[in-house]
Order: sequence, then structure tokens, then C-alpha cells
Amino acid sequence: MATGLKHDQAIKFWFLPFSILISLIFDIKSGIISGLCFLVGGLWLSPDLDVPSKPLNRWGILKIIWWPYRSLIKHRSIFSHAPIIGTAIRISYLIIIYFLISILLEKIGFQNDLLISKGNILDILKNYPDESLAAIIGIEASALVHLLKDHNSL
Ligand SMILES: [Zn+2]
Repeated sequence: MATGLKHDQAIKFWFLPFSILISLIFDIKSGIISGLCFLVGGLWLSPDLDVPSKPLNRWGILKIIWWPYRSLIKHRSIFSHAPIIGTAIRISYLIIIYFLISILLEKIGFQNDLLISKGNILDILKNYPDESLAAIIGIEASALVHLLKDHNSL
């Protein structure tokens, strides 16, 4: 298994070539979105959120939201370290946490339309399909880089 440092180096190394590749395949806007999501995916939404790790520590005090995830997902299982499945579970988990926190904030009287609107995510997917696809490609590509580094270090 590659170290957190090796994973970070790989993400930072591949960020620019990946962004350029996506820009050439689609367009510059998609390349920028996908590249930024590649960085966020690799540095904050890594498959290694299933253990105490550098990506987990980057969440600061908010890393507590990943405690249930870490409790449920065994390290390097298919639920965290399989292509597509791992990313889908992490993003779905984050969306569920987002809604739970929104509901909690609403219950204690905090009014914020950005937090509370349950249709926000579906609206984003519906109104910005190309940008959403670019974001998903970026996050998944970072996970694939992570998995390749893990596999090559065995
Ligand atoms: Zn890993």
C-alpha cells in the first residue's frame, strides 16, 4: 500500500496532465472543473478515508463526519477501494451527511436556503449536466490514480 505522501505526490503530479487531457477531449471549462475535482477527490475524498489518514486529517474538525463511514467500511474493501463503487459510496455518504446536517440546522432554527433545499443536488445535476459529468470524472480519476498506486505498491 502506498503511503499518504506517495498518494499526494501522484495526485499533484497528474493534476495538470489530467486537466489538459480533459480540456482537449471536451473543452477548457470541463478541464478546469475536472482538474479541480481531481485535486479535491485525491486530497479530500480519497479511498483512504476508511482509515486515519492524511485525507481524513485535511477535514480538520469536520473529520468527525467520517466516523460512521470508517466504522462501517473495512479498509481497502470494495466499498472504498473499488473503481466507481468507492467514489459512488463516498459521494452518496457525503450527500446524506449534508442532508442530515441541513435537517439538524433547520430543527434548531437556523435558516439558510442553500443548506436546506433538498432539491439542490438534483437541480445541479439537471441544470449543469456537462459540469457535473466533468466533476464526477475528476473525482473518479483521482480514485483510480489512488487505486493504481495502492496496487503497484503491493
Ligand atoms: Zn488506499
